[in-house]
Amino acid sequence: TKWVYSFGGSANEGGAGMRELLGGKGANLAEMAAIGLPVPPGFTITTEVCTAFYDNGRAYPEDLRAQVGAALAGIEGALGLRFGDPAAPLLVSVRSGARVSMPGMMDTVLNLGLNDETVEGLAANSGDARFAWDSYRRFIQMYGSVVLGVSHHRFEDLIEETKRGAGVQDDTQLTDQDWRDVVVGYKEIVQRETGAPFPMDPHAQLWGAIGAVFGSWMNPRANTYRRLHDIPASWGTAVNVQAMVFGNMGQDCATGVCFTRDPSTGENVFYGEYLINAQGEDVVAGIRTPQPMSQQRAREGELSMERALPEAYAELLSVRDILERHYRDMQDIEFTVQNNRLYMLQTRTGKRTAAAALRIAIAMAEEGLISHEEAIRRVPPSSLDQLLHPTLDPNAPRTMLSRGLPASPGAAGGAIVFSAEDVEIRAARGEDVILVRIETSPEDVHGMHAARGVLTTRGGMTSHAAVVARGMGRVCVAGAGGIHVDYKAKTLSVGATVLHEGEWITLDGGTGEVFAGKVATIEPTLSGDFSTLMGWADNVRRMKIRANAETPDDAQTARHFGAEGIGLCRTEHMFFAPDRIGFVRQMIMAGDAATRVRAIDALLPFQRQDFQDLFRIMAGLPVTIRLLDPPLHEFLPHGEAELAEVAAAMGESLEAVATRKAALSESNPMLGHRGCRLGLTYPELYAMQTRAIIEAAIAVSAETGQPVVPEIMIPLVGMESELRRTRTIVEQAATEVLATTGAVLDYSIGTMIELPRAALTADRIAQQADFFSFGTNDLTQTTFGFSRDDVGTFLPFYLEHDLIARDPFISIDQEGVGQLVSMGAEKGRSVKPGLKLGVCGEHGGDPASIGFFESVGLDYVSCSPFRVPIARLAAAQAAL
Ligand code: PEP
Ligand code: MG
Repeated sequence: TKWVYSFGGSANEGGAGMRELLGGKGANLAEMAAIGLPVPPGFTITTEVCTAFYDNGRAYPEDLRAQVGAALAGIEGALGLRFGDPAAPLLVSVRSGARVSMPGMMDTVLNLGLNDETVEGLAANSGDARFAWDSYRRFIQMYGSVVLGVSHHRFEDLIEETKRGAGVQDDTQLTDQDWRDVVVGYKEIVQRETGAPFPMDPHAQLWGAIGAVFGSWMNPRANTYRRLHDIPASWGTAVNVQAMVFGNMGQDCATGVCFTRDPSTGENVFYGEYLINAQGEDVVAGIRTPQPMSQQRAREGELSMERALPEAYAELLSVRDILERHYRDMQDIEFTVQNNRLYMLQTRTGKRTAAAALRIAIAMAEEGLISHEEAIRRVPPSSLDQLLHPTLDPNAPRTMLSRGLPASPGAAGGAIVFSAEDVEIRAARGEDVILVRIETSPEDVHGMHAARGVLTTRGGMTSHAAVVARGMGRVCVAGAGGIHVDYKAKTLSVGATVLHEGEWITLDGGTGEVFAGKVATIEPTLSGDFSTLMGWADNVRRMKIRANAETPDDAQTARHFGAEGIGLCRTEHMFFAPDRIGFVRQMIMAGDAATRVRAIDALLPFQRQDFQDLFRIMAGLPVTIRLLDPPLHEFLPHGEAELAEVAAAMGESLEAVATRKAALSESNPMLGHRGCRLGLTYPELYAMQTRAIIEAAIAVSAETGQPVVPEIMIPLVGMESELRRTRTIVEQAATEVLATTGAVLDYSIGTMIELPRAALTADRIAQQADFFSFGTNDLTQTTFGFSRDDVGTFLPFYLEHDLIARDPFISIDQEGVGQLVSMGAEKGRSVKPGLKLGVCGEHGGDPASIGFFESVGLDYVSCSPFRVPIARLAAAQAAL
């Protein structure tokens, strides 16, 4: 088996198409070399070695050593250096590289191959002893912490001590002799902490680093990340070994990270940061402040790469063009300049904000780089959520505290909190919080998720906080260096202003500004790009998108976002208003039919008005109105006062009403007297609702001259007999209204399919139904036997222990519940080929579920108004 693939030297054996075998980094290094970009020679140990390693009890394949040896010799040949040669030593970097980039794994060891002898060779060849000893100590520090597991604080402390001793501020002011002393100290630290000397044999170093990469694939942090992102452990990671180039060999050297377009806005400008005379990790570590790439972006006191290293910058600009044309997507690249020569160390598809994803997709389609279909595919539907984020009200008063980098857009305010744990505690209580950290690490991710926004005082646009916040759509201001954070005192200060934990700040992630207190925000307007993409999506999607809405506000929002009708109007939500709930309670608690009918009749005008409002707003679009379906307990009076009120209204004694309440209370309300069961036992109720619907429809179509076609929907049907009898009640009431008014009106009567029995007998039920709407909330509840209201008690455990892959109330369980949906659809259409099919459970707004509904051939999905754009895009992607 071939376990090792060379790149960049005389042999270039990989390519971008081999990402599964070589990992993303390795595949793209080979690809860049293949298209003629300057890539230092190296080789990739395949992901198959990782898999074999774990299959064989952490042992390598037998012939691996020989293949690594041969590939290493290839690098030596290409460069005229030798690994471990005291006179002209080859140094390498060792990096992990899975198919998708994966934080939590061992990342990078640089300068590998240095020891007490080769450091002298490096010093002689570079003519720079300080550089050589600095590189050596960096190597011991990196190798010591990531391979040998020594806490990096041990090393940092010694540097601080050395700087204090030398009376200097910056690392750059330390001399070669200082670094020699640090190396001695470092080696002692390693001996003390690990009980063994630091390895001097370069081959032992190399295999140590390779082993650390493979070992890190199974460490707890990597495991957690994989679980959260559905990455199978069987993918494995590759290891990349590459000849070192040095960005820290003088003022004509540099290292940087950049994006071919602005990852925040998507604007077509070259974007990034670099540091002169520095090594890769310095840029992201936040120890020195990175400088901008282009002069146009440079602020006062900053030195752009365009000015400092014009030749390398010009070459980088042409690399940028080549990469974008080649990959046809925005790239995130790492480079190093050694003595004015540019070297490419990485390229990959760049992470971006939702706004940038949209801008880039549209711009690239307009530039002719990609098709409209590709542009549609490029924007993750759920990311649209971020575009609907609020911004600061330009007219709101504000007190600016400080300014950092605009790391992730949107505006958010909240109480200051200094740890991820405290964020979770407060967020669970419903508080808005802002996580404030000096910098963030993977341990903070859960807190970042629960926070409204993240503020850091250190780090650049590519710092952990910035990258993670952008990915999850959290507002983030990074590197606000003017703010001082004191974790112990739990304070944040700017000059003399001191804010304590719990006090409010507001962040503007679009400008980087930080304000004291609350600043009013406004809802976003949908930009040109947004509607362009929506237009393209609408052209290709097959399914219609409706909204779940019952209030005029929600209906307006739904139309604003492009809903093509209402798929679910939950009438019980219309019954909670203070002027109505009393009648609802009387209806439920009535001791005799006359009292009940009186209460129901009192509700009629309210309902009629509600429906008129909806029909007017929806202007001829279909509106599905579901007749009452409350689990009864939601409506029962709570406490003495409410009970007394109901009793008084009905002219009955408190005791009588209390007794009836006790009789009505159920052990399992969700499986109790609700849905059509209520409509069958209290036929006056559904008759009243039907009357209200038909009267409202007649009135609005007379008023607007536009036909209104109400769809009346019966909930919680399990048997054909239930629907047959309910249908009669509804038809009778409708016929009566039409007869007395003499009006002509089309209406239809359908049912929800939300119980397993309904799906199993859908062919019989279809005989009584003009349409089906799958109620996947109840269908999930009843198929799993998971209470919708109580899953919180055990579902987190299930998710954590891989008993279930996803929350089935968020993303449909295709294997089980999905089978019932497709069976229901098939059986229904076997009886009525044109039967209209929709879905109105929460899953109607979930992109993965929408893909499934497309495959089942549903006619529409209905979701909450704010998810309508997401559903439009997801339905388009599903149809492609
Ligand atoms: C459903 O059960 O999926 C549904 C839409 O109805 P509700 O959520 O109101 O029970
Ligand atoms: Mg339901």
